[in-house]
Amino acid sequence: MPASDAALVSSQQAPAAPATAPSANAATVTVGVLALQGDVAEHLRAITAAGGTPLTVRRRAELDAVDGLIIPGGESTTIWKLADIFDLLGPLRERIGAGMPVFGSCAGMIMLASRLVERASEQETLGAIDMTVRRNAFGRQADSFESDIEIAGAGSQPFRAVFIRAPWVEEAGPGVEILAAEPRTGRIVAVRQGQALATAFHPELTQDYRVHSIFTDMVRELS
Ligand code: GLN
Repeated sequence: MPASDAALVSSQQAPAAPATAPSANAATVTVGVLALQGDVAEHLRAITAAGGTPLTVRRRAELDAVDGLIIPGGESTTIWKLADIFDLLGPLRERIGAGMPVFGSCAGMIMLASRLVERASEQETLGAIDMTVRRNAFGRQADSFESDIEIAGAGSQPFRAVFIRAPWVEEAGPGVEILAAEPRTGRIVAVRQGQALATAFHPELTQDYRVHSIFTDMVRELS
């Protein structure tokens, strides 16, 4: 992430929302984080807090070893280019096609989309969710903001969502479950389609692990 993003993150005061306890029947699941670029360490920490075993993924053998995968926030054009250079695009599509649970935050949401608005030239995505995502939809770096949102399935307590050069879901197909909208704009910012979960914001940048708990539970159920 650019230095300006890092500054924004480090000034972040995480809300004191309690983390959801890992499920009582917590079978051990290995959750990978695609570690090419972006806020990998924050997701690794959140996976541990949600009761999963984290693993960084840069190679096919590492991808083969995980039960589920998170694509982090960062810069989707860079993640896409590095995934191509590391020969991971084909294996990622194969494993997603075979049902591997995936979660993408921000740039990760962009990577999971089927269609993009403001797509960089030749930028490819993985097509895990039948949705059109608009990159940088809420504006540029200076327009980054935080907002209290309600997330379906995460309890009634609001979730403090951090938006950094965030996308939104411009259009979602009929099979896509809408989990959250950003209150000021009404735009869709969290979705799930079967094995795939995506948020336009960065749950990994707070101490509230409810989204990671939802994903870790999905991995337990589906893998
Ligand atoms: N705007 C970035 C992109 O297009 C995403 C920003 C983020 O992940 N914080 O990839």
